[in-house]
Amino acid sequence: MCPNMPRDLTDLLFPRAVAVVGASATPGKLGHALFSNVAGFTGPVYAVNPSHTQILGRPCVPTVDDLPADVSLAIIAVPPADALRALDACGGKGIHNAVVITAGFKEQGGDGIDRERQLVRIAAAHGMKVLGPNSFGLISPRARLNATFAPRGAFAGAIAFLSQSGALGSAVLNWAWQRELGFSFFVSLGNKAVLTENDLLAALARDPKTRVIAAYLEGVEDGREFVRLASEVTREKPVLVLKAGTTEVGARAASSHTGALAGSDRAYEAAFRRCGVLRVRTVEELLEGAIALSQEPLPRGRRVGIVSNAGGPAILAADAAADDGLELPPLSPATVDSLAEHFPRASVANPVDILADASADRFRDAVEWVLADPRVDMGLVLTAPHPVLTFAELARILAAAHRRHAKPVVASFLAGELGEEAVKILGAAGIPAYFEPARAVRALATLARYREIRDRPPPERSAGDADRARARELLRSRGPRLGVESLDLLAVYGVPVARGGVARSADEAEALAHDLGEKVVLKVLSSAVVHKSDAGGVRIGVPVGGVRDAYREMVRGVPTAAGAYVQELLPPGVEVIVGIVRDPTFGPLVMFGLGGVFVEVLGDVAFALAPLSRGEAEGLLRSIRGFPLLEGARGRPGVHLPSLADAVERLSHLAADFPEIRELDVNPILCYPDRVVAVDLRVSLD
Ligand code: ADP
Ligand code: MG
Repeated sequence: MCPNMPRDLTDLLFPRAVAVVGASATPGKLGHALFSNVAGFTGPVYAVNPSHTQILGRPCVPTVDDLPADVSLAIIAVPPADALRALDACGGKGIHNAVVITAGFKEQGGDGIDRERQLVRIAAAHGMKVLGPNSFGLISPRARLNATFAPRGAFAGAIAFLSQSGALGSAVLNWAWQRELGFSFFVSLGNKAVLTENDLLAALARDPKTRVIAAYLEGVEDGREFVRLASEVTREKPVLVLKAGTTEVGARAASSHTGALAGSDRAYEAAFRRCGVLRVRTVEELLEGAIALSQEPLPRGRRVGIVSNAGGPAILAADAAADDGLELPPLSPATVDSLAEHFPRASVANPVDILADASADRFRDAVEWVLADPRVDMGLVLTAPHPVLTFAELARILAAAHRRHAKPVVASFLAGELGEEAVKILGAAGIPAYFEPARAVRALATLARYREIRDRPPPERSAGDADRARARELLRSRGPRLGVESLDLLAVYGVPVARGGVARSADEAEALAHDLGEKVVLKVLSSAVVHKSDAGGVRIGVPVGGVRDAYREMVRGVPTAAGAYVQELLPPGVEVIVGIVRDPTFGPLVMFGLGGVFVEVLGDVAFALAPLSRGEAEGLLRSIRGFPLLEGARGRPGVHLPSLADAVERLSHLAADFPEIRELDVNPILCYPDRVVAVDLRVSLD
């Protein structure tokens, strides 16, 4: 099967008839729980079990071979060796879709790894679409198919949920059931031996009832394809991902858990940003973000209007809004006038505080005016237990206001059990409700982020204008480790570099220095030295007359020295680093940060997937904490950002063009108000 052709999963998600291999007639057994769930399916259901002719009133056959021809999906829940035989038999019978619930494959290590390879071979031989193994199952509510052993199924809804963890999936099902939250699909990916997140993503993107895709992932199988596919999908519908394995310890746990090799977190961060996937940090944020996105209209911008009758929570909300990059604009004069006239004691700034004794009418008017204000893109209403008004009354007021305005509204009712009815009313009106003000704000921020992702112009990545043949020659002739003497490689890519040349003797050094100015810089050439300055291998500001002595002294001090690089002396500037690393999942990444010799200490770096468009290069510059330093701060002039972005863009093309570059550091690039210049380079090639 062609890897880039999306597989049609219709027969998996909407099967004609379903068979359960390993259905059990004994209550309390997993195979019984599974079969009783599957028995609710709208179409024909069969059990496969040699000991019975019927289970739960459904026909039961001894083997897969005895199944009727209409079965298009097999759910397999027998021990591992039997599971492989059953899968093969299904393939032989023309049953091309299977969910393998059986565990004991790759996630177990040892024999399991080989067993999983066999499973992949069987699936490939028959052209089968297999979910799992080690899957918690599949729920397709519109087909009334619950192929899990979860005690409850799922309501039909607009959120598709993918989970790489069965346990987390089962917990989410339970949580959602209690809140009557529906799913378009619930898919437990298991070990992803055959069908991966990419297959599901493509299928869910095409499903008209799926408005939001939410996924818990420990890793992605094919990173480049994921990015390509998700970039398309996120223009149509939001994709939220909770990615586990973010810390070193977490990453190890992920690989021993489902056998996934979690890629490095920086690479995932860069990949998600690139393709517009909304990354969330907690299970709650995943679900709450998905709910908000499935129910609410998208805001035009980031401006929030807050109405509250509770001072403290309103301040918490304002703080959270600032943290999440949302704005609390001053309201329009007309809104301020209406509020001031009707509520003389209220605070009419944003947040609007209509005080603890606010009546229903007062709330109704305030919410109406704030939502109608053209300076407000979305509304947040906060309330604490209240002497005059019940939570349910206020919920009805908000529901009515939400219907009148095409703006998202969320509620933070600090209510406990007094608010249960209110939360139901709000839910029915499509208004997400929270206890914690910060969570309500986060939901609004997610809506605003998605709006920006959906509307961002498609990036225009040029092919670059570098002389690739020349660069290839350079790399061939010098590898596998290149240093400052190879700055000409960057020059081929159009990155400005300091002038200089290689000297193998004191005489040569002096001759070179004559052409470079009154004072020069000497750098030791040695592939054994990682940080030249730490080894006494950098002399800055050597007068031409002193070059011979400086050369001899420096070369004596570094036993592995093979000469020196003589470089023009540049004035002090802001030092930045641009680097390239190759991620096993996502390929070449570009790193940018504040550089110089303290780059590790500062740790102020950001990553992006190569190659970059000009806009993406600019975005990368802006994404570091120290960006204000580049813009100019405290009376210091800023650096020439267009030149710096240009250099980053060009280096990103170098990264994309040469897969053999394993790591590359340009550290530092010296940055000035009118130009940037690279003065050092380290490259390691495969
Ligand atoms: P290394 O990183 O191996 O120690 P570099 O070539 O990066 O060696 O030089 C170390 C530091 O010296 C740089 O961070 C920069 O501050 C300074 N430096 C290097 N080259 C020049 C130059 N041509 N002009 C001025 N300062 C320089
Ligand atoms: Mg350096």
